[in-house]
Amino acid sequence: MTRPKLKITLALLLLSQYVLAQLPALERVEPAFWWVGFKNPKVQLIVHGDKIGASQASLNYAGVKLTAVHKVENTNYLFLDLAISAAARPGKFPITFKQTGKKDLVYNYELKQRNTAQGAQGVTNKDLIYLLMPDRFSNGDPSNDVVKGMLEAGLHRDSMYSRHGGDIQGVINHLDYLKDLGVTAIWMTPEIENNEPHASYHGYAVTDYYKIDPRYGTNELFKSYVAKCHAMGLKVIKDLVHNHIGTESWLIQDIPMKSWVHQWPKYTNSNFRDAAVMDPHGAAADKKQMLDGWFDKRMADLNQNNPYVQNYLTQNHIWWIEYAGIDGLRLDTYPYNDAVYMADWSKKVKAEFPRLSIFGETLVWSVANQAFFTQGNTVNRGFDTQLPGITDAQIKDAIAEALNGKEGWTDGVNRIYNIVAQDFMYQDPTRNTVFLDNHDMSRFYSIVNEDFTKFKSGMAMLLTMRGVPQMYYGDEILLKGYSNPDGLVREDFPGGWEADKKNKFTAEGRDKKENEAFNYIRTLANYRKRTTALQTGKLMQYIPRNGIYTYFRYDDKKTVMIAYNGSEKESALDTDYFSERMAGFNSGTDVITGQKISNIKQLLIPAKTTLIIELSK
Ligand code: CA
Repeated sequence: MTRPKLKITLALLLLSQYVLAQLPALERVEPAFWWVGFKNPKVQLIVHGDKIGASQASLNYAGVKLTAVHKVENTNYLFLDLAISAAARPGKFPITFKQTGKKDLVYNYELKQRNTAQGAQGVTNKDLIYLLMPDRFSNGDPSNDVVKGMLEAGLHRDSMYSRHGGDIQGVINHLDYLKDLGVTAIWMTPEIENNEPHASYHGYAVTDYYKIDPRYGTNELFKSYVAKCHAMGLKVIKDLVHNHIGTESWLIQDIPMKSWVHQWPKYTNSNFRDAAVMDPHGAAADKKQMLDGWFDKRMADLNQNNPYVQNYLTQNHIWWIEYAGIDGLRLDTYPYNDAVYMADWSKKVKAEFPRLSIFGETLVWSVANQAFFTQGNTVNRGFDTQLPGITDAQIKDAIAEALNGKEGWTDGVNRIYNIVAQDFMYQDPTRNTVFLDNHDMSRFYSIVNEDFTKFKSGMAMLLTMRGVPQMYYGDEILLKGYSNPDGLVREDFPGGWEADKKNKFTAEGRDKKENEAFNYIRTLANYRKRTTALQTGKLMQYIPRNGIYTYFRYDDKKTVMIAYNGSEKESALDTDYFSERMAGFNSGTDVITGQKISNIKQLLIPAKTTLIIELSK
């Protein structure tokens, strides 16, 4: 290469950077389209473009009124309030922006007809949720592994912080696998664009609310993923982040107004103490820092008291549910949000999608702290959060204690008994999501020190407890790992990549023990699928006796007895005491082995083992 040529290249490079730095006259309008037929006739468009704030916006379309135009601090923005009457027809119409001394700008806005047939189905206690991280599950499309222009360079499977290339196509390719396992709902960590320079794979630093990350696929592919799931009887949960926004977002890079996010004189973290939100003796400063402090340097804390932010987020969520046909929502970092906004958000979303299910992430430290965030004013809060479900971290910890701890008045199996007894704190505990692990904590098989008997007992309790069970990808093949750092529990599913030596999506690729784990979960999950007693049935539990924790799930069709021996030795369980639930039953069937049990008067249960018995007359 000769020197003059290099000079030209450099000049072109500088020029292209200059051009990129200039905002187009009309850069974007969001939501890019909307629907006719929502209960709420209002939609607020955010318009971003070079000095667009100085223009005069107008439209002329039957049934649609431009009721207000808001100019804000940053002259690159306009907010347009539209009222769409029920009589408005689906179709396209121009929105014109007049600028003095310049050509008019025109955006062709589209109103689509709502697809009421697909309507959100809701994810309930009839379901089994499978949580996965799309970057780490399977690479179904190597052509999107590295996308030009994204800030995080390259693909490095050997680094737990880098992108590994998994994507939505990879999940589509394994829907059969999940269906076979007995899963009925899939929750992926956020799929929308995270154009952050580091560790963008986790998905919680959103940079474009209306776009699937191009390394995962396209909006159209996501929509077709949901349709494929539905065709197979699988439901889809979307993971939403209300609390914070990625600092590389266009909304932060060219912020509409200072108050879009919480501003601090110098960088201030949240104190991550949910108690500060509910503490009647708490200091206002602690509560403010909990709610308004930033989650991370690259995750700015959204100001949910700002009405523009409120509209932006709420509409975006409604847009995705309607666009793709989402069945349930998981709300990230729930306690960090503004409670009044979240209640209003929930009412607005549920008004449009009555069957949609919603659960908030509440990684807190007591039943009271969890119940504080749930719907219905059952905890002297004087305010209804309108949040139907939460992630039940107390059951998770109690199951681990029952498996690993030594029996005491409040320890070992008594922990889970006591935690379940506190269900009076909830308006409806059957909406709680029950889990043993997730992407932010140590894997369950490691929590039980790779004790296979304990592993099966934990899974047994997960799939027979009240509430909505959720498992984490790889539990079924005994993936291990302690979550410090998180990347250690976010490894690639073996067989998800073309080059992988082992393919654990197939029975041949799994070893004997892995197949036993997979088959155990599959047997129980499929039994649960056809047993309403384990889904919507009532739960009755007994005070642990002789080291054994016993509970029943029952309805008018079936009664299932679950007995877990938390002690270190084989113990006998005399069942006479359980006559309230067992009267009239003479025998049973072991749900896992299918073996008949003729004598249910006395059961011998090996150490750390759980028996699941369907009772018969
Ligand atoms: Ca890929």
